Amino acid sequence: MKLFQEQEIKIYNSLSGQKETFKSITEGYVGMYVCGPTVYSNVHLGNVRTFMSFDIIFRYLKHLGYKIRYVRNITDAGHLENDADVGEDRIAKKARLEEIEPMEVVQRYTVDFHNILNTFNFLPPSIEPTATGHIIEQIELIKTILENGFAYEINGSVYFDVHKYDKTNNYGVLSKRKLEDLIHNTRELDGQSDKKNPQDFALWKKAEPQHIMRWPSPWSDGFPGWHLECTAMSTKYLGDHFDIHGGGMDLKFPHHECEIAQNEAAKGKTPVNFWMHANMLIMNGKKMAKSTGNFILPTEIFTGNNEHITKSFSPSVARFFMLQAHYRSILDFTNNGLLASEKGFNRLMDAVKDLDNLQLADTSSFNVLDWKQKCYDAMNDDFNSPILIANLFEGVKNINQIKERNATITSNDFEIFKSTIHTFVFDVLGLKDAATEVDSGTSKLSGTVELLIKLRQEARANKDFALSDKIRDELAEIGIQLNDGKEGTSFSTSP
Ligand SMILES: [Zn+2]
Repeated sequence: MKLFQEQEIKIYNSLSGQKETFKSITEGYVGMYVCGPTVYSNVHLGNVRTFMSFDIIFRYLKHLGYKIRYVRNITDAGHLENDADVGEDRIAKKARLEEIEPMEVVQRYTVDFHNILNTFNFLPPSIEPTATGHIIEQIELIKTILENGFAYEINGSVYFDVHKYDKTNNYGVLSKRKLEDLIHNTRELDGQSDKKNPQDFALWKKAEPQHIMRWPSPWSDGFPGWHLECTAMSTKYLGDHFDIHGGGMDLKFPHHECEIAQNEAAKGKTPVNFWMHANMLIMNGKKMAKSTGNFILPTEIFTGNNEHITKSFSPSVARFFMLQAHYRSILDFTNNGLLASEKGFNRLMDAVKDLDNLQLADTSSFNVLDWKQKCYDAMNDDFNSPILIANLFEGVKNINQIKERNATITSNDFEIFKSTIHTFVFDVLGLKDAATEVDSGTSKLSGTVELLIKLRQEARANKDFALSDKIRDELAEIGIQLNDGKEGTSFSTSP
């Protein structure tokens, strides 16, 4: 019997607004699609949080024995600056400003995205398709939607006819919006667009003469609308009807609403059983924005080079911090929160290390199987990672009590106890012990620098200030800054 046959999962479905029992369309198989990044700038920490939510969902479903195909796309064309299908293509704009090819922009920020996600110990998706790699599929979809009468062509562009669609279907089914309200609340676009109605959205846009990213189509040399790529790629790899579609909360409308409309218009059926949305990340109680300075890049967390944090934090500590909030709650990124998480993370890792030195006994003074099921129950309840972590700390308490001879465990129970802790800490939450993070970015250095910090502390204790300054200054010369603080000394590296 597979684990998924024993463990019943409930998932909050944005479509129904309720937690529903998860049953996959084909027993034992799960298809999951998550909207990936638009690769025109360094990956935002808010995006990291969204993808991390789906990383632990992917990990947990795998652990339960599902054969899961996880598709996460790369948007490398078609995403305009403005949701109303006006403005410049984000990638083309960056290319113009930096005087490089759009595909150089795509390459640079795709590499950055992968590096950051690797550093945070994300599992790669099963397939990572790109919008530009699926232009033919998108053109075919547009043809079908046109044939079915839910789109119209005007001056080389093709638009989805939302008003017509809403007569037979329900535009707004996911975001709970009504077309009348949308009509009421939309400003006219002052002739900027050929659309019949401002609520219509582009399936194909004719390219302006200066637009570099363009492909031939039956309607014009142009490019696909942003919403279309996800319909094309999700159904190509997961079928016309699949299990889970995820993304950030901000994508629910219009992006995901439009995906549902496109699928119903082209294939006559709703694409997805479970729509899942990860909530926002804010910083110090406010929206994170480069323009206000309330901003941090993921790499700055590892180097400590940011005014909003007092020291550097390892990727696993940052990961642990994020997983201490449920994916549907807003997460407030703060220095104090990170410091507290670091303490908790170290306590957890110390306990995991202590596991191997526990004395076994003839009886167990606590019920290991009950505790194990509580860990599963937490994840089964809409992937509640904070409750799982609370249960893991129950386990830490038990480890410490056994160590202090205030509790006992049999060897049978110990095997279950240990493997459960390892499974949830390393496989499901994807945490890494700091000592094993040697292959990720700046952490390569950490062992060496920590040793130098210790030697410097000894030098200072011996009042050998010449040596202590030499260590600090020579490290600074090669780009490693030591930061003395109340909590001890940490280090950061400049790029
Ligand atoms: Zn998408």
